[in-house]
Amino acid sequence: MTNPNTLMNSSLLAIAASINSPVEARLFAEYGAVFATTAAAPPAIIFDSADQVEEFQSSLSLGRAVFGDHEIQLQAVALRALSAAASEIADRGGSLTARAADAGGRTYTDTVRLWTRNVTRGLEHWESLDQITPERAQSIRELVAVEQIAPILEVEEKEQLFFGTFFDRSILYSVAAPGASQHLSMLAFDVAEYLDCEVDRVLARYGWYRTVPNDLPHFTYLGHDLGALPGIGLRRIEGKHGERVYDFWTPNIDRLLDSSERPQVIPVSSL
Ligand SMILES: [Zn+2]
Repeated sequence: MTNPNTLMNSSLLAIAASINSPVEARLFAEYGAVFATTAAAPPAIIFDSADQVEEFQSSLSLGRAVFGDHEIQLQAVALRALSAAASEIADRGGSLTARAADAGGRTYTDTVRLWTRNVTRGLEHWESLDQITPERAQSIRELVAVEQIAPILEVEEKEQLFFGTFFDRSILYSVAAPGASQHLSMLAFDVAEYLDCEVDRVLARYGWYRTVPNDLPHFTYLGHDLGALPGIGLRRIEGKHGERVYDFWTPNIDRLLDSSERPQVIPVSSL
């Protein structure tokens, strides 16, 4: 009989075991499914600089293709799967196109810009409502983007002052933390036709799934069959939006961190 634990994805397990801060734990829970990809997974939960992102991206085999109005760049294996899915959807009379110019791969600068936009707006909003003092807002503004993650998540958690686009939920539901976006790994694609159920079904057959709860247009290249996902250490979360329930595949943290489920290392002497 096969031990199901040996099938858990080794990269997902290694990253889960390396978590050493509440911020990393939170970001892994939100975006960590990407580590289970059959393509090249990013080296860390958070890239800490533009240089580290560039080094990783330059090590990849990349490709470019046009989806609708935009040319996007992705890891070659992910792009081939996406192009095949688009052809199949087109054959059925539908379409699969990019939601925006930055729907595919992004640079570190792109992700910092998006993050800073939300932080700046949020600080202005909460300052204008006297919920954050000007001194405190200024001290957060002065930090570099990656150092803003912890204080912003702390303000959200402890004071319920949210930095999402409408100030009603976490910033992480509007924009990825700088250095943690799956788009930096060149394995994410934002779909314009994300409300079309047929698109979900075809994308899943080509290894593309929703992996970030509440981010409906965002799909990630995992490269696995749907039936394999629970075994490799992911779990399905359902999210209801409007009349429809959407599936999101996220790290099964309890299982990944349960040492009794880790593959056993057998001492050589006992072989
Ligand atoms: Zn996205």
